[in-house]
Amino acid sequence: MFEPRNEIREMVGYHSPQVDVAVRLNTNESPFPPPQQWVDSLSEIARSVSWNRYPDRAATQLREVIAQRHGVDPENVFVANGSNEVLQTILLTYGGHGRKVATFEPTYQMYGQIARVTGADVLVGSRRDDFTLDADEIARVAGAEEVAVTFLANPNNPTGVIEPRENLEVLLRTTQGIVVVDEAYAEFADWSAIGMVQESERLIVTRTFSKTLSLAALRVGYAIGPRWMIEKLSIAVLPYHLDAFKQAATVAALSYVDEMQQRVDAITSERTRIEHRLQAVGMTVWPSGANFVLFRPQKQSTPSLWQQLLDKGILVRDCGSWPRLERCLRVTVGTEAENSLFLDAVDDLVGL
Ligand code: PMP
Repeated sequence: MFEPRNEIREMVGYHSPQVDVAVRLNTNESPFPPPQQWVDSLSEIARSVSWNRYPDRAATQLREVIAQRHGVDPENVFVANGSNEVLQTILLTYGGHGRKVATFEPTYQMYGQIARVTGADVLVGSRRDDFTLDADEIARVAGAEEVAVTFLANPNNPTGVIEPRENLEVLLRTTQGIVVVDEAYAEFADWSAIGMVQESERLIVTRTFSKTLSLAALRVGYAIGPRWMIEKLSIAVLPYHLDAFKQAATVAALSYVDEMQQRVDAITSERTRIEHRLQAVGMTVWPSGANFVLFRPQKQSTPSLWQQLLDKGILVRDCGSWPRLERCLRVTVGTEAENSLFLDAVDDLVGL
């Protein structure tokens, strides 16, 4: 048998089990479908596509509409198939063999995963016990020689912690490389780094349609960055990576953004309910600024709490094997009914 290259041989893939259960609270999607009007418009959009032709390689219209939304120029926008592909393209362009990529654990696992797959070495900085980040630690890790790309997620996944702007300022001052601020859960944070993007800065900010915007199935994400950086991304990405239907469907979806943003309040108040109920049964709960809650039962049970919930038809994320997250589970805020099923099940299983 022919072996894969060393980096791949030593890795396990990034997996979130896709199990067919009634209550799926494991991948931080929106519990609400996109507006029906948009769904109804899709057949017309499909009919208007020139299916025998390659799509617009530059995704001109889509980038224009995204640029308008953020008050930047289309040349500041890069779009790909989910923000994971955006992150991968950044790492293909600025990471790679002989370069270092910095992350602060615990954080989104794909930063390290994609960095390694694309040949870079990963430097891992540590968060404090409450998962906030110390400025000295930022400077120590990201300021190290040859750090080409550093990731910060705001809010962070899976901890839900909101990153203060000052930490980004320290990071930009201390690193020589590119800084990626991942704003997958931006709608829940009280500030955005997009306002700090400028030509003279090495900052790029990523966003996704998969969470608040209710379009995880469509696979669209984007980055806002300085022109010189965005321009180079299109060299590394494959030609025609964004299909024509996706481009048109996403343009149409952007007219519903305000409507979808209004759902954030409902999710936030459900999140508070989840946090309180979990605390009431003795869980350690980290206050979240996103659409999920990280929590830890006091002791290990057999079978694990994750398995016991699954046996009741409720799927949450098992973060127990992630660095520093022994026994931790992460629950995505679902609909009110789904959250109640989850909370009642937890009560049954560990109720005091
Ligand atoms: N960044 C973070 C922090 C995430 O949690 C996720 C989804 N789990 C992504 C990026 C990727 O999202 P997508 O590829 O669906 O845009």
